Amino acid sequence: MEFRLNDRQRELVELAGRLGREKFAPRAAEIDRDARFPFENYADMREAGLLALCVPKEYGGLGADYETYCLVAAEIGRHCGATALTLNMHSCAMMWSGDLVDALPLTAEQRARHHAHRGRHYERVVRDGAIYAQPFSEGNAAASGRAAFETTAVKVDGGWLINGRKVFASLSGAANYYGLLCTEEKPGQEHDRRDTMYIVAPANAPGVSVVGDWDPLGMRGTVSRTLILKDVFVPEDEELMPPGVYHAAALSWPHMFMTMTPTYMGIAQAAVDFTRGYLRGEIPGMPPIKRRNIVTKQLAVAEMQIKLEQAHALFRRAISEASYQPSKEQRLRAYATQYTVMEFANDICRLAIRTCGGHSMLKSLPLERLYRDSRCGALMLPWTAEICLERVGRESLYESGETD
Ligand SMILES: Cc1cc2nc3c(=O)[nH]c(=O)nc-3n(C[C@H](O)[C@H](O)[C@H](O)COP(=O)(O)OP(=O)(O)OC[C@H]3O[C@@H](n4cnc5c(N)ncnc54)[C@H](O)[C@@H]3O)c2cc1C
Repeated sequence: MEFRLNDRQRELVELAGRLGREKFAPRAAEIDRDARFPFENYADMREAGLLALCVPKEYGGLGADYETYCLVAAEIGRHCGATALTLNMHSCAMMWSGDLVDALPLTAEQRARHHAHRGRHYERVVRDGAIYAQPFSEGNAAASGRAAFETTAVKVDGGWLINGRKVFASLSGAANYYGLLCTEEKPGQEHDRRDTMYIVAPANAPGVSVVGDWDPLGMRGTVSRTLILKDVFVPEDEELMPPGVYHAAALSWPHMFMTMTPTYMGIAQAAVDFTRGYLRGEIPGMPPIKRRNIVTKQLAVAEMQIKLEQAHALFRRAISEASYQPSKEQRLRAYATQYTVMEFANDICRLAIRTCGGHSMLKSLPLERLYRDSRCGALMLPWTAEICLERVGRESLYESGETD
């Protein structure tokens, strides 16, 4: 397979690369040290139109499709992992309510309802440069898709009353809007995953608060604190998907859960870039000592490069296959891609530190940050490394609905 960028993709990737090199990379160490949200990077992305990357063109956005989004996000991840990961949470609100829902077979009534609502979200992003977050995780089995969300939505006059608690809410305190997954409470009925709602609470709505501290190992700029929702009233038109549609999307559009891989693809590339520069004596601020003539270092670079090529080949293929109801082979490849990119990114960073040596671990250089950031990829629900392995194994051996 040949993976060429089309003109639009090249243009957007170059834009992301320019911002990344000139703005994001020089700020990354300070954002990481202070574990603070990269507001300046968001101001730059807002000005460049990248906050509306996944807003459909007819609503004034850049109209990037899934593949284009992934290519741009990987380029940003190369320069600042936390900016790429948070841009993922932001952009998914637009991508999922845009292209993804457009591909689903909704009823005419659902479609009309969706079109009536989604424009308000897109307008906020395009016109006001608003930032959206995607706090789904609750520290229970819901984010992995095995149980209903414990955050609830109760129907009241004109809207919904939301109650719950979301953990690891990236962009907490920075986002203007929180896109929440919660379960519609139906009188006399058990909570059911099919009743999952995807709805937005404004950050300044009464009853929304952010609690807990944030001093983690990696991805420190994501500021993923705990979000509390206490009797938060949300008007009906804040929906990002009509009721019931999220569950259908999760079953039939699996690549929607693969959108964090670009961040880690970018980190893996950055570790290889750094190692090459370091061993060639080309890192600014370091003595120009070449360390490339030692065979063990050459072998380590070769191993890193081979892993990068393997991950990249899978990544490019999987992002070109994202669609409604992909084939079984494509679905398995999506799990394999997420697993490979997340595990290889961390392994490539490990090899980079090992072969560059002690100086490369200094805080004045980016490698130790890449190493710490890369550790987070395999933990991201719903497709953690273990869950991907489990799915590849089970779904290879069992057809849908098959039991022993
Ligand atoms: C930097 C960062 C940013 C984040 N941002 C967001 C965000 O914006 N929004 C959001 O919703 N979440 C976010 N998360 C949360 C993330 O997606 C996970 O929900 C969280 O890391 C899980 O933490 P946990 O302590 O519950 O671990 P667990 O989920 O218990 O995971 C620990 C181990 O158990 C395994 N495991 C867990 N469940 C299963 C299962 N069902 N089957 C098999 N193995 C399983 C995992 O693979 C892992 O190895 C973020 C996390 C981090 C680290």
